[in-house]
Amino acid sequence: MKRTGFLVLLAAAALAARAEDVAGREIAPWQPGTLDIHQISTGRGNAALYILPDGTTLLVDAGEQARKTPRHTPDRPDGTRPAGEWIVRYLRHALRHAPQPALDYALLTHFHGDHMGVVAEETPASPTGAYRLTGLTRAGESLRIGKLLDRGWPDYSYPSPLEDSATRNYRAFAKWQAEHKGLKVERFTPGRNDQVVLLRAPEKYRNFEFRNIGANGEIWTGVGTNTRHHFPALETIARADWPSENMCSTSFRLSYGPFDYFNGGDIPGIPAEGSPDWHDVETPVAKAVGPVEAAILNHHGYIDSQNAFLVATLRPRVWFLSVWDSGHPTGRVWQRLQSTRLYPGPREVFATDLHSATRVVVNGIEKLASDRGHIVLRVSPGGGEFRVVIVDDSSESRRVTKVFGPYPSR
Ligand SMILES: [Zn+2]
Repeated sequence: MKRTGFLVLLAAAALAARAEDVAGREIAPWQPGTLDIHQISTGRGNAALYILPDGTTLLVDAGEQARKTPRHTPDRPDGTRPAGEWIVRYLRHALRHAPQPALDYALLTHFHGDHMGVVAEETPASPTGAYRLTGLTRAGESLRIGKLLDRGWPDYSYPSPLEDSATRNYRAFAKWQAEHKGLKVERFTPGRNDQVVLLRAPEKYRNFEFRNIGANGEIWTGVGTNTRHHFPALETIARADWPSENMCSTSFRLSYGPFDYFNGGDIPGIPAEGSPDWHDVETPVAKAVGPVEAAILNHHGYIDSQNAFLVATLRPRVWFLSVWDSGHPTGRVWQRLQSTRLYPGPREVFATDLHSATRVVVNGIEKLASDRGHIVLRVSPGGGEFRVVIVDDSSESRRVTKVFGPYPSR
């Protein structure tokens, strides 16, 4: 073969090869067939962008927590913009492959400020005048949302009417967008696997599934779309024992061939002393989910989460932790994650920016695979293997700092 012909062939092969993530360079754009899950680091709560194998997009939460005490972690990249704005800028970059970046779906796990955004005095009003711009409403104002899912639509009345300022603001956003912009809003229904589906090329990726697991104490049985009620009827329990907002969080399992991922919002698994056993939501949820490759820690790894049954049942190769408080994670949670009695084999834990106090008080926390940065999970076409890419969050460089894997799916 002539030398020029050989070079042309080489160039073609390089083009055909999938762009690699290399430390020190900008993170590669999403590519068709790949499943990307970006855990965005703002220091103010949870926000995750999912880019599904055919390019369908899903935003899960967009928190903007207001309180700032010494317990809280610093803003990322810094405090010059509110978290919702940083999230929008991150989304636009991560969706740069799309001619018109948009969110096909947004899912709110539960009605707390670190997942949807709080309203403070300085929170700006939307030009519509109907709501204020914070967290999820900021994201939805900047990028068109196709379908919005939450645990309450349309009446937001369980276990009692949700009337705090943050939830009222979110509800005003959903209502206005539904009436004026054609936003579809649906209540997240446990057991179903047709509320989040591939919209661009479902026929190419038949081994993809988004399964709703639980919400409001209703949990999938694992059979068909059947569910059962884990919480007793409200009229049979004392008001002080009513389900908390965290207990009502939505949970889901996403599958791509042999790869499975779990997100349970802020569900707890360890009831406070003296509380009824059914305050443990993790156990029935874990039974429905089974083993997964990767999972985000419930309730940010706080004191009431990651019970032994959940850890032993999910037994993921990689755990993700979204941090905004010095209790993320607590020492006992960390011990359970590390326990090879609960499940054998290696595992890695990746955290967004850990609090300096946590580094001091949690024994062994230095074993974290990564303790700062955006966490990007990249699942190869077909789901057979995955990598974890850490992206610098101290600026908007979008620079890769570390790459982990590939890990095989089981
Ligand atoms: Zn939370």
